[in-house]
Amino acid sequence: MVVVMKQDATESDIEAVSERVRGAGGEAFVSRGAVHTIVGLVGDTDRFQAIDWKQMQGVDHVIRIGKPYKMVARDLHPETTTVKVGTTPVGRDTFTLIAGPCAVESMEQTVAAVEASRAAGATIVRGDVYKPRTSPYSFQGLGEEGLAILEEVRRQTGLPFIVEVVDLNQVEGVAEVADCIRIGTRNAQNFELLKEVGLAKKPVMLKRGLAMTIDEWLQAAEYVAQRGNSEIILCERGIRTFEPATRNTLDLAGMAVAQYESHLPVIVDPSHAVGKRHLVAAMAKAAVAAGADAVMIDVHPNPEEAMVDGAQALLPHEVVELGEQLAAIAAAVGRAMNR
Ligand code: PEP
Ligand code: MN
Repeated sequence: MVVVMKQDATESDIEAVSERVRGAGGEAFVSRGAVHTIVGLVGDTDRFQAIDWKQMQGVDHVIRIGKPYKMVARDLHPETTTVKVGTTPVGRDTFTLIAGPCAVESMEQTVAAVEASRAAGATIVRGDVYKPRTSPYSFQGLGEEGLAILEEVRRQTGLPFIVEVVDLNQVEGVAEVADCIRIGTRNAQNFELLKEVGLAKKPVMLKRGLAMTIDEWLQAAEYVAQRGNSEIILCERGIRTFEPATRNTLDLAGMAVAQYESHLPVIVDPSHAVGKRHLVAAMAKAAVAAGADAVMIDVHPNPEEAMVDGAQALLPHEVVELGEQLAAIAAAVGRAMNR
């Protein structure tokens, strides 16, 4: 159950509702949106239903959501939320290209990848400094040195950046400098990490776990929302199936289901889904045609020498060509590409 407060509800109205929830033996989670503040009720639904919430000062209405996720459910919020990463909106009104290196390897490589991404029309940069690698012998990322490179590139280009955290200890430092914190597929059900980014004052991009149902994905997002951070972007990045021809199987239907069930923006990462350069453009185009709110593409100036995921990185001229095609497809389905 969720209590939606009036636009002019005061802090003491919100506290009174929370207190009433606690009085009924439950827990209250307050989420402050741009227009309405909502209070999520966790506990004994029968006891909550016995309370006449609408009599309370500042309460607009009550929604009963019979799903395991509530704050991220479209039932709560019929319109799609727009999340701002820096000044770039990610939502249903526009289409956004996110691009950059899989990993920050050096200043030179990052600048080259970002310049190409910008020329392609990207308005958000991706680039990781903490890499969750299958092998402990693989490159693990540049850490804080990489963050400094991303800050410098943002200073030069004005483009906001998204960066992954793989550990609780990294959240505070990353939230201080990055424009959006990403939770990768391997940590998509790391509930302690989800709670921690739920407390951060930056948007969160939550990738779908590689073996996660959509329901589980939305419940993971609920962990973030429940802690008060409602600036969440969902990212479909392929799931593990029996098919080895692609790295993962891109679930575009899953993207559409997530958009239907949730009010959060949903984007697609075709690079990590297919794992092969020659397949990335096809899936990026399909994603835009299907209504993805953004796509996120790996770019590398010299993929043969990439320390991570070179096989799927687009070359600078390839991402520029793809950017033009994506803008045309976005226009054809009624949305302008953010510039
Ligand atoms: C990435 O985007 O670099 C990444 C590691 O992705 P995923 O978590 O989807 O594998
Ligand atoms: Mn990668």
